[in-house]
Amino acid sequence: MHNKEFDAIIIGAGAAGMMCAQMIATSNKKVLILDHSAKLAEKIRISGGGRCNFTNINARPECYISQNKHFATSALSRYTPYHFTELLDRYDIGYHEKTLGQLFCNQKSQAIIDLLDQLCQENGVIRLMETSILAIEKTNARFKVETNKGLFDSDMLVVACGGLSIPLIGATGFGYQIARQFGLKIIDTRPALVPLTLDQSSLQTFSSLSGISFDSETKIGKISFRENSLFTHRGLSGPAILQISSYWQHSEAIKINLLPGEDIKSVIQDNRSSTKRLKNFLHDFFSERLAESICSLLNIDKQLSQLSNKEIDKITNLIHNFEVMPNGTEGYKKAEVTKGGVDTAYLNSKSMMAKNVDGLYFIGEVVDVTGWLGGYNFQWAWSSAYAVASSI
Ligand SMILES: Cc1cc2nc3c(=O)[nH]c(=O)nc-3n(C[C@H](O)[C@H](O)[C@H](O)COP(=O)(O)OP(=O)(O)OC[C@H]3O[C@@H](n4cnc5c(N)ncnc54)[C@H](O)[C@@H]3O)c2cc1C
Repeated sequence: MHNKEFDAIIIGAGAAGMMCAQMIATSNKKVLILDHSAKLAEKIRISGGGRCNFTNINARPECYISQNKHFATSALSRYTPYHFTELLDRYDIGYHEKTLGQLFCNQKSQAIIDLLDQLCQENGVIRLMETSILAIEKTNARFKVETNKGLFDSDMLVVACGGLSIPLIGATGFGYQIARQFGLKIIDTRPALVPLTLDQSSLQTFSSLSGISFDSETKIGKISFRENSLFTHRGLSGPAILQISSYWQHSEAIKINLLPGEDIKSVIQDNRSSTKRLKNFLHDFFSERLAESICSLLNIDKQLSQLSNKEIDKITNLIHNFEVMPNGTEGYKKAEVTKGGVDTAYLNSKSMMAKNVDGLYFIGEVVDVTGWLGGYNFQWAWSSAYAVASSI
């Protein structure tokens, strides 16, 4: 039978919860971590295509979306990507940079889960999986957590139960429920880093392009991302689309530069006397299917030498300012993260403690801090976990 009194109870044995548990436990605190799932940290396991993109060396507050864009600054500056890589170095876990500062494990993601688990065990953290939390209350300055495995109590309660994305592996809105119970507000949640869907007529137009990936720059207002985009049988995906999806609102168009880093107008002008057909010329820049589609959208089938100035402008506009109007997203089933969450106005940015409830903390994805694609969300999990541990 477990001792029922703890210094800290952490709800959620995911990235943030495991990190926080082992850090708190190093200061001789008795820590209990509870999770309703059977498997430990499933999101780490499936992340980064199975090799966990555990941080990004460029992580900085501008790479996070929140109602308070300064909220993450303190935590991110006190536990940086270098702190996490130093931890991996100490335990001989190899990693490499892929692109754009993204660090991935050389081995499977399980290496990160095993490391967190080992650190928890070494520091005496007690972990109970398949534990349903039935009720939480705070009386006499202690949190009482009633579960199907008994009643536990503690001075500190750390809510680390993540967001709503991928319910199939155990995501729930329980963290938001706890926040509301204790009088904190929730910023409306929605799927982010998520594929976008197109209406039937657009899908028909692009049907031949399904599966085609291309270098692109996606834009909404002043926000833009240069990475690959991908046509799917439901709409658009690929890193540049996932990134921009976090900024997208319903009934808003997304502009896609299909040829970033080139100026198609001046290339055409340099080849003005060419007898090459437009389709063949575009094939020098795009896959054959994409070049064909661009020509049929433009309704132009001519040699370069026959193009009018107006047609050149039309080609330029379509290639550099291709506009799509998504009609929705693929939802939480496919979203990598949940945008929105516990309103940071209710949290102390140094400690992650609720301003109105002593001893109650929120960390990781449950908080209204949403990172870009590329290791930023795990970095937030590590940094926010450290903020709690360093505050006690
Ligand atoms: C497919 C996919 C790939 C991803 N790849 C990356 C990547 O490569 N890099 C990156 O930075 N981010 C990635 N992310 C995002 C990243 O996984 C999350 O942002 C991160 O896991 C959040 O950590 P967390 O600890 O807050 O929540 P989680 O890791 O989701 O942990 C929450 C835990 O709480 C538990 N829980 C939930 N509800 C309850 C309840 N009612 N009772 C008890 N326990 C509960 C869950 O079982 C889970 O163990 C990816 C996400 C997905 C879905």
